[in-house]
Amino acid sequence: EPELSAEFQLLLSWADEERKIGVRANADNPQDSAKALEFGAGGIGLCRTEHMFMDAARVPIVQKMILAETFDERNAALDELLPMQQGDFEGILEVMQGLPVTIRLLDPPLHEFLPDKEELLVEITKLQILDPKSKELKEKEALLKKVRQLDEFNPMLGHRGCRLGMIHPEIYEMQARAIFYAVANLADEGIEAKPEIMIPLVGHVNELKEMRELVNAAALSIKEETGKQFEYTVGTMIEIPRAALTADQIAEEADFFSFGTNDLTQTTFGYSRDDAEGKFLQTYIDQKVLPENPFAVLDREGVGKLVEIGVELGRKTKPGLKTGICGEHGGEKSSIEFCYKAGLDYVSCSPYRVPLARLAAAQATIRFGKNNHKEAVTAK
Ligand code: PEP
Ligand code: MG
Repeated sequence: EPELSAEFQLLLSWADEERKIGVRANADNPQDSAKALEFGAGGIGLCRTEHMFMDAARVPIVQKMILAETFDERNAALDELLPMQQGDFEGILEVMQGLPVTIRLLDPPLHEFLPDKEELLVEITKLQILDPKSKELKEKEALLKKVRQLDEFNPMLGHRGCRLGMIHPEIYEMQARAIFYAVANLADEGIEAKPEIMIPLVGHVNELKEMRELVNAAALSIKEETGKQFEYTVGTMIEIPRAALTADQIAEEADFFSFGTNDLTQTTFGYSRDDAEGKFLQTYIDQKVLPENPFAVLDREGVGKLVEIGVELGRKTKPGLKTGICGEHGGEKSSIEFCYKAGLDYVSCSPYRVPLARLAAAQATIRFGKNNHKEAVTAK
């Protein structure tokens, strides 16, 4: 049963004729990808691979990967994860049938995958009383020690995003290989796949350079191994102010930019995206310190300015550089209007917001004129 009425679909098709900016969806599994297509998305703008690892059956393997003491231990976990990831990517790429799919390499706040410290402490205390000489107690104590070593005061500003790929390149390598195996396999079935591989939380061009080389090396190796040819691109999230401010350098290494306005809002204001809304933000809004919640509506003067700077500097290096937005703001009407004027090629939002985004994108063209979009857009 389609969720959109025929009348609404017709209205949306008129909106599509008018709009100058693409609408994609954020999706991490085949079901959401199918929903995105049903609602008229032109591709996947953000596939958050960390969500694939949250599955209860996989968490223990991911923990083994993170907590590994030796290369061999880590590689054993990665060997288990690779076929699972290949399946994840095949599923999504197959549903999307040649439409662009931006796959972001792992960007986990590590603490979300680690065993809970409090629970571990309770278990250790119990064992100390009931079975103080047990092997289990020794193992749990060693685990707690390791978890404490990885503990961070500010996990959201910590060992996340490409920082993980830089320190443990074998994790990103496993993901890149899984993507390329998926593409090669689909090619065998005559299914075209267009992966756009995205590196998260880049703050310095050297991070992107190194991660791009790693992805290219993986592609080359899979092409040799399978004898298949395939296309892909490598781009970056722009979600750290320094990345926006040095976007001319970053563009040298990027096929596309995607603005992560959730993190960009967090880092531009210096507000924790996990805490601000529950603490002071509402009072700020009530007292008119801020006009609205910047995590919901793009702050034009600060965050938006960084988006504009990023687009301009990026296109100075690479005219026509493809740019999009995949933060929450990509599904909010006035933020979409802003993205249109900033010259972005597409917005990406949750599948259920795609119809709204299609309408908002058309309204932006009607309101500001076709020529007020800074770049000629090639693809919806
Ligand atoms: C962002 O930061 O805006 C983004 C899209 O990435 P995530 O929300 O996964 O950090
Ligand atoms: Mg982010």
